[in-house]
Amino acid sequence: MKSGWVDSEAQTAIDRYARAGIGRDLALRVYTTRLLGRDPKLVLHGGGNTSLKTTMPDLFGDQVAVLCVKGSGSNMASVEPVDLPAVRLDPLRKLRARGALGDEDIVRIQRASLLDSAAPNPSVEILLHAFLPHTFVDHTHANAVLSIIDQPDGETICSELYDGRASVVPYVMPGFLLAKTAADIHDAKPAVEGLILHKHGIVTFGDGAREAYERMIALVTLAEERLQKNRKAVFVTAHLPQAIAPVAAVAPILRGACSRKVEDSEGSWRRMVLDFRTTPAILNFVNGGELVRYSQAGVVTPDHTIRTKNWPLVTAAPEPDRMDDFKRAAGVALAAFVERYQDYFARQNARVGGIKRPLDPLPRVALIPGLGLFGLGRSKREASIAADLAQCAVEIVTEAEAIGRFQSISEDEMFDMEYWPLEQAKLGAAAEKPLAGQIAVITGAGGAIGAATASAFAAAGAEVALLDVDRRAAEDKAEAIGAAALALACDVTSAASVREAFARVVEAFGGVDIVVSNAGAAWQGRIGEVDEELLRKSFELNFYGHQRVAQAAVKIMLAQGTGGCLLFNVSKQAVNPGPNFGPYGLPKAATLFLVRQYAVDYGAAGIRANAVNADRVRSGLLTDAFIAERAKARGVSEKDYLSGNLLGREVTAEDVAQAFLHQALELKTTGDVTTVDGGNIAAALR
Ligand SMILES: [Zn+2]
Repeated sequence: MKSGWVDSEAQTAIDRYARAGIGRDLALRVYTTRLLGRDPKLVLHGGGNTSLKTTMPDLFGDQVAVLCVKGSGSNMASVEPVDLPAVRLDPLRKLRARGALGDEDIVRIQRASLLDSAAPNPSVEILLHAFLPHTFVDHTHANAVLSIIDQPDGETICSELYDGRASVVPYVMPGFLLAKTAADIHDAKPAVEGLILHKHGIVTFGDGAREAYERMIALVTLAEERLQKNRKAVFVTAHLPQAIAPVAAVAPILRGACSRKVEDSEGSWRRMVLDFRTTPAILNFVNGGELVRYSQAGVVTPDHTIRTKNWPLVTAAPEPDRMDDFKRAAGVALAAFVERYQDYFARQNARVGGIKRPLDPLPRVALIPGLGLFGLGRSKREASIAADLAQCAVEIVTEAEAIGRFQSISEDEMFDMEYWPLEQAKLGAAAEKPLAGQIAVITGAGGAIGAATASAFAAAGAEVALLDVDRRAAEDKAEAIGAAALALACDVTSAASVREAFARVVEAFGGVDIVVSNAGAAWQGRIGEVDEELLRKSFELNFYGHQRVAQAAVKIMLAQGTGGCLLFNVSKQAVNPGPNFGPYGLPKAATLFLVRQYAVDYGAAGIRANAVNADRVRSGLLTDAFIAERAKARGVSEKDYLSGNLLGREVTAEDVAQAFLHQALELKTTGDVTTVDGGNIAAALR
């Protein structure tokens, strides 16, 4: 591992922050924190933390000694001075004399000691930083170090490897006791460059930012070099089937198995979003004959527990022509996982006096022999964090097994960490949105109604895939929604294009729960004289397009076994034909009956089918020129055409989006058409 320190970049940081009135030390603290944060072999997702001891003026202008320590859960790679809240150092240091200190007291004292009372919560490892005397303290969960300390004889290996340069601290749960133990061990040999926290990570320190940082690089490099010695081959591959089913076939089954019915809300499911990973290293790991031993041994560092749980779900290898077997086996594996988790909770909760409330018992990582691994979470973001940490664990365990045998902390220690209130606080207590965990596909998403619907569903917590025949339009709208929104080209008049798009959605998120079949285009012509080709073209898009999309979605929904929701844009023409609008209205009328047919055929599977009958929404389909033409056909002004309804109000794309959203949330409604037209008795359904 090479040092990333560059003198000119360090100077740039000093100069840049000086303009904002920030001193040299804090500027360099930010600079090296980012250097550490940008290397995934050192830290991932809020893991690791750094600090600086300095002086700063308090609200009265008096200079006080402070500890600037990284805020809990903030990302080191993009840290700014504001992410290193300043805490008065003297009250923190006084705590070292205590025999014991509760978590709530620590939080209270640190918040009361913040120079800025509105600052973020400091890292849960604040006291570790406070009790060490050095100006700069850096802490990471470096992969190479974990590979050598997650061993039965990890402490011996480290004592030999770091002889005199770093002291080894036996495993103690993070918090007050670890801080006290680490400081005592440091003080016994104050000349060391760092501390190895057994089964947890590494701390380095120094008087300067560069010194602390480069000691980290040097000590981690020693671990990397140690891993190259006396290696044995890992892992011996298990006997696997000749062919393995693709992700698009496996993910919906896995996702279905990992979903749970919500007890007090019939028809409602608690679902997971999936994030798939595969690399040669992951395949080597999941294909190993001893997978069950080394994958179930526990976490690589206690910090991962809260996001990955202590062990992953392991399924059988999925064979393409035996997916029913895979589905059955996945169900059995999940039931065993849940039972094991519940037993673990009951056993451990009894040990701590029955004071804890259980987290959900579902896995956050699934290992699929022959295929790869999935991260699971209530959002794409959570799923990808779990997948990142799982991928990191694969590397650490593989390296650990190459020089010995991977060993984690004990079950008691994992439970104490998983159910530590300060750790659970990292997950945030915000209420979940109504569509959290659901995946929505919107066709025609490059247009006004499709884009507004995608935005409304994303705002309600769904992961959204925006499909449009115009890829660029879908990408533009997805970008406006946010990084997690997926944009795909899809021509609904092509069965292959629809199949491909749905496979991509499943690969990205794990499945499909809601489809808004919205793509359409309007053609006009007097029905007695219209060219048959034009009529067929309209049917291809305005009827068969909906059928292809619904068919692709239903296949995935049935594999998941958790119901689903099909929503169609049928337009007012399906109910109330306008003059010369037959080529558009006829396939839309067929689509209205398609909705009812899906409601009839798939109600028993919990799949709902509903439609929105909207009228006169300004969009790509209803352009200004088109509005002028339709107004002329009806013999009214353009303004009257748009708001020519009982309420006298123009209907917008957002109004239609809200109607789709309501239908997605109405778990007891199917075969319904919701009218969004400002009131038009001639188009009212009866
Ligand atoms: Zn740590």
